[in-house]
Amino acid sequence: MLHATTDPEGVVFLRLARTVAGRPLYRGGAYLLGNVLLDCGPPATAREVLAWLGGRTVDALLVTHHHEDHSGGAALLLDRRGLAPHIHASGVGLLARGYPIQLYRRLVWGRPRHVEARPLPPVVDTGGVRLEVVETPGHSPDHVCFYDRSRGWLFTGDLFLGERQRYLREDEDLEQIIASLRVATALPLERVFCAHRGPLREGPAALRRRLDHLTSVRDQARDLMARGVPDAEVARRVVGPEGPLTWISGGRFSTLNFVKSLRR
Ligand SMILES: [Zn+2]
Repeated sequence: MLHATTDPEGVVFLRLARTVAGRPLYRGGAYLLGNVLLDCGPPATAREVLAWLGGRTVDALLVTHHHEDHSGGAALLLDRRGLAPHIHASGVGLLARGYPIQLYRRLVWGRPRHVEARPLPPVVDTGGVRLEVVETPGHSPDHVCFYDRSRGWLFTGDLFLGERQRYLREDEDLEQIIASLRVATALPLERVFCAHRGPLREGPAALRRRLDHLTSVRDQARDLMARGVPDAEVARRVVGPEGPLTWISGGRFSTLNFVKSLRR
């Protein structure tokens, strides 16, 4: 499924999802800003993105991080449109050689093909836009945001996702996410664009609320840990009980991962 919306300021958001019996599974997204494509969605929707691009001019493909729901369409876009993905230097090898993807993720997103990517420069100035690359690791080591300083627009990939994060991935680093949110919220911001939710309403305030929430989770968890409360109990009291995604993902997403991340 591909659903494109253009907001009054000309930013195109492509909402992308694999559908089963006509119903979308988990949704992802990509943006077209000027002639620059920011993320390109999962393997499962690569042909739809290619078809939608049609005769449009695209000068560059920038990806926020290597996860397959953001970069999975890149191999097809390189083959058919000559668009090499640009990614943080630490993600180049992951796209070239591949990385482990669990079955449930392959079912939702499809299996990405390996692709030769190029490292992002500090500033991308092409296709009618000028974007600064802001390193924001934590969700993944190679995660970046793209910042249009002249307009105060921040494209946040998976840095936002929601004000109250229910689960942490096993490979996410809570302290790094908090540090990255501090960097992002310190920028002069007018608008925030989430890869999964689209353009956010009152985005800068929402991003600050997410920072405050995660900081509070971290501080409460550290306090309970220092008092010797068992990890699972800390997670339950600070974040909440585990839910269906914990079981579906075999624990790769869980509330316990918040505490495990602080123990590393
Ligand atoms: Zn991600």
